[in-house]
Amino acid sequence: MKAWVLNNISDIEYKDIEKPQISESEVLVRVRSVGICGSDIPRIYETGAHNMPLVPGHEFAGEVVEVGDPFHSQWVGKRVGVFPLIPCKECRQCKQEKYELCENYNYLGSRCNGAFAEYVAVPFWNIIELPESVAFDEAALLEPSAVAVHAMRRVDPKPSESVAVIGLGTIGLLLTAVLISNGIKNIYVVGNKKFQKERAMKIGIDEAHYIDAKHENVIEKLKDAGIDACFECVGKNETISQSIDSVRHSGRVCLVGNPYSDITFDKNIYWKILRRQLVVTGSWNSAFTHSEKDDWHYVLNALSDGRLPIKDFVTHRFEMPELETGLKIMRDKTEDYIKIMMVM
Ligand SMILES: [Zn+2]
Ligand SMILES: [Zn+2]
Repeated sequence: MKAWVLNNISDIEYKDIEKPQISESEVLVRVRSVGICGSDIPRIYETGAHNMPLVPGHEFAGEVVEVGDPFHSQWVGKRVGVFPLIPCKECRQCKQEKYELCENYNYLGSRCNGAFAEYVAVPFWNIIELPESVAFDEAALLEPSAVAVHAMRRVDPKPSESVAVIGLGTIGLLLTAVLISNGIKNIYVVGNKKFQKERAMKIGIDEAHYIDAKHENVIEKLKDAGIDACFECVGKNETISQSIDSVRHSGRVCLVGNPYSDITFDKNIYWKILRRQLVVTGSWNSAFTHSEKDDWHYVLNALSDGRLPIKDFVTHRFEMPELETGLKIMRDKTEDYIKIMMVM
């Protein structure tokens, strides 16, 4: 089969490799759509992956074409989304079904072969059936959308509360859409690009709730608004400080953005955590338990009933051989994008 193989840092090639052999506990998924994640850029160009050579790609959906266990044969031909984290199911976190916190996990596309390929071997446990109404592109957005749902649920804002989202990259925009889908009305978003403003307005944010980080005083504006819960989706000193500084007493701050570098606070900011009794929490990955209540089902249900209009978050679509075109747009920031999707 054809696959993109990361041999070493910055050394990725499209070539023929052996089609994966599946074990009894796995299914073979034919990839139909796979998104490029922000994390794929440093993985491919800066840090490398955990194990190399490796086929990257973890935000994907496709069709089951083979099953390892004949007992699962009714799954052949089904359209599925895939939870890319393969938990050990033995550690303390796994025992509590907090698989996203597994202490000894495997991961499709970062630790074992993923989806920038024609086929992927996926544990049967990791697949979720797609409703008819959910297209493959949308299903490839399940993973980052579930990450957004997970972040929302970490601080669980109520419809009566005011919420801020700082940073309108892919996760920030998805999170905004997820908050709207959950009935949160008073959402302030902070962006720094015209394109981000347009996108935010398209999903329902009005002029008065958009804050332009380049030309406006973010903290002042957010303080005036009285923010109960703030989501930091950038991962930089300045925006993390803004998040802490802008929430009201007893407010909650959820740190979502992956850090660019070391994070340090002014003493003044640190004091605010204490004196205002803030709750500062992190969010990591998403909850996938096969329960109707997990983050993945939230997204699937919201997509099915039209509450989550994220279809046009796919700003670019390329055929699989063009992967490098997509990677370079993201690496070199040559064009505005939300999600770049590879299709087969
Ligand atoms: Zn990702
Ligand atoms: Zn575990």
